[in-house]
Amino acid sequence: MNWVERDLKVIWHPYTQMQTAAPPIPIVQGEGALLFDDQGNTYLDAVSSWWVNIHGHANPYIAEKVSEQLKTLEHVIFAGFTHPTAIKLAEGLLEILPNNQQKVFYSDNGSTAVEVALKMCMQFWSNQGKPRTKIVALHNAYHGDTFGAMSVSARSAFTASFDPYLFEVEFIDLPNEENLESIKQQVSSIKTEVSCFIFEPLVQGSAGMLMYEAKYLNELMAYCRQEGILTIADEVMTGFGRTGKRFACNHLQEKPDLMCFSKGLTGGTMPLGITTCTNKIYEAFLSDDKHKTLFHGHSFTANPVACAAALASLELFLQTKTMENIDRICNRHQLFADKNSMNPKLKEIRQTGTILAMEFNVATGTSYFSNLRDRLYQFFLNKQIILRPLGNIIYFLTPYCITDLQLDQLYAAVENALETF
Ligand SMILES: *Cc1c(COP(=O)(O)O)cnc(C)c1O
Repeated sequence: MNWVERDLKVIWHPYTQMQTAAPPIPIVQGEGALLFDDQGNTYLDAVSSWWVNIHGHANPYIAEKVSEQLKTLEHVIFAGFTHPTAIKLAEGLLEILPNNQQKVFYSDNGSTAVEVALKMCMQFWSNQGKPRTKIVALHNAYHGDTFGAMSVSARSAFTASFDPYLFEVEFIDLPNEENLESIKQQVSSIKTEVSCFIFEPLVQGSAGMLMYEAKYLNELMAYCRQEGILTIADEVMTGFGRTGKRFACNHLQEKPDLMCFSKGLTGGTMPLGITTCTNKIYEAFLSDDKHKTLFHGHSFTANPVACAAALASLELFLQTKTMENIDRICNRHQLFADKNSMNPKLKEIRQTGTILAMEFNVATGTSYFSNLRDRLYQFFLNKQIILRPLGNIIYFLTPYCITDLQLDQLYAAVENALETF
């Protein structure tokens, strides 16, 4: 039996209708922005393998650091014990975050980083004897697939089977010049009950790389601060350079109270989640009363190997070469966006930093399930480019080591698609 047959016999893939989906492609190796399958085909990874990879596949430096850590200490219980790699990573990360971020809480992935942030906010209020039971989130949001994370995400086909079990959330529109005041009014009507406002800063990834201006988010955050509503910046996707700055929050003057990280955190090599918060939040859990403890943790909290990968990735991220690559991608994307801004086949071409999204004009069926999506996916795959269209929207979210030649290959393929469809 070949890999595909063996896979289909025993494996259930995520977000995959197993009855109708094309068989999975067995990938046996990676290098830089390239992936290689078992048949000797090469693919250009334009989506960073589900938005996680920032320094290229099988990065030798991360591999070396992970290997050293594995041979030194593979895991230790993180309650009652600690280890140097987790400490160094926390110190290093806090150093480059907005300076109000003071404490690091480890978990396993983006969804758990969000769960932890939500629990911190809920208990922040209950620990002070003034529980607030409402949460504000953005329409079209995506914060993960666990129940808390799903609850603060948009209700959609993805959540339909679970909707009865999700807690209620006050959803608001993406803020802009026109609606900012009415959003404030909407929040104002429940403001004393709102524990927190959670958002994906500047770019809503899963919604289709929807983008909005820092200016209006900033005003909304200022309003929340004024009303004592905690703010959670979910930087699981936008963190580590995606928006052209180190973090999306670096585009804002306001600082969030909490931040969530995963995906690029380990350079895309190991699962790891981080929630950071201010001292004010941390201190609300300090007490002689054990009931005020944050009761959350995972078996693999702060796993040393994952922390070693993240620490190595952070070192690479801080090299000038990486920031130069990010700038290079931003500039090249912008040129391409300008060139195609009037293309009638495109409803919109939009860019925030290294993220470039192209929305195809379609008469009907713009949803995730649209058949254009599958045709686009196959079209690019035939050109040995891995894209994962969100409905009629295609986007690039590449590793930063992608070469100019490889970018040219992506742009040429899009222009070809625009002629074809
Ligand atoms: C992917 C994502 C998550 C969930 O992360 P997982 O590691 O897949 O659980 C949460 N928030 C945002 C903004 C994401 O893009």
